[in-house]
Amino acid sequence: MEKILVIDDSPVQSGFLSSILADDYESTICHTAEEGLEAAKEGGYSLILLDVIMPGMDGFALLQELKGTEITRHVPVILITSLSDVQYEERGLLLGAVDYITKPFKPVIVKARVNTHIQLYHYQMQFKERAMIDELTGVANRRRYEDESASRWREAIRFQIPFSICMFDIDKFKLYNDTFGHPAGDKVITAVAQTAASHFHRSTDLFARYGGEEFVAVFLGEQGASAFEFMKTVRQSVEDLHIPHNSPVSPWVTISVGGVTLTPRRGDKLADNLKLADTMLYEAKRAGRNQVVWSNQEREQWQEK
Ligand code: GH3
Ligand code: MG
Ligand code: MG
Repeated sequence: MEKILVIDDSPVQSGFLSSILADDYESTICHTAEEGLEAAKEGGYSLILLDVIMPGMDGFALLQELKGTEITRHVPVILITSLSDVQYEERGLLLGAVDYITKPFKPVIVKARVNTHIQLYHYQMQFKERAMIDELTGVANRRRYEDESASRWREAIRFQIPFSICMFDIDKFKLYNDTFGHPAGDKVITAVAQTAASHFHRSTDLFARYGGEEFVAVFLGEQGASAFEFMKTVRQSVEDLHIPHNSPVSPWVTISVGGVTLTPRRGDKLADNLKLADTMLYEAKRAGRNQVVWSNQEREQWQEK
């Protein structure tokens, strides 16, 4: 059952709200804003019903906190106000609440408003999800890369974890299109994307189509040498698809991979390292394609062939 969070210092009111909604939703009740914030941060709620007037941290302060926190920012918040606090409604809506319900509640109105906002929330989430997926291949698109790589980069700086970034690109792909046609080319891009994607299953991995027949990947926790080995297996798995190609590189469709591993420090730029990965990719192309070229911040370099 869908989950709702009810934050209200009055046990009577919160109990009543949760009983009104009990047929359709599972409510969690918190009696202070602090408890409510903790619960909301655990995630999984589709809507928050929030009392404005509470002792200690009040509803407005909590609302501000919720809107400023990444995982709770999109969850709709409906404020609960009594008739005497109508002047607060405007402030609540400006702070990002989607609606307010005035005490005493009419159960049908509470239900109807909750249903509407949960439905809107789902549409919004679906829309957001779709906007991050590449239509052709079903893997993450460049927008998701831009979004998520920035947070991985910050994590790597904060926790001093090795960060690897790589670019790869299908070899002689213009020739493939010219020989087999653009629709066949699209199928190859999809097969390559899905094969590569199947290697990135850690929660911190990020793999995306960067554009055209170019892909980008980010992963954490590997030193340069093991990142290089890992990408060799990815490259090999594309070659092992044995998709026929009449290129001078190989009888099969292949990729060239360039990447870099570093433990970033504050002030380092992610974009500079993407550029470095691209330079390594260029090296791999120059050295004959169908290979991985990797480097690290000590300027050590690994090359397959
Ligand atoms: P290299 O080995 O140096 O990478 O050679 P290449 O021919 O792959 O490189 P180039 O960048 O010259 O050509 C890339 C080709 O990829 C040209 C373009 O028509 C094709 N391409 C880009 N996006 C798509 C796509 O979405 N579908 C198809 N079928 N082809 C695409
Ligand atoms: Mg290209
Ligand atoms: Mg290419």
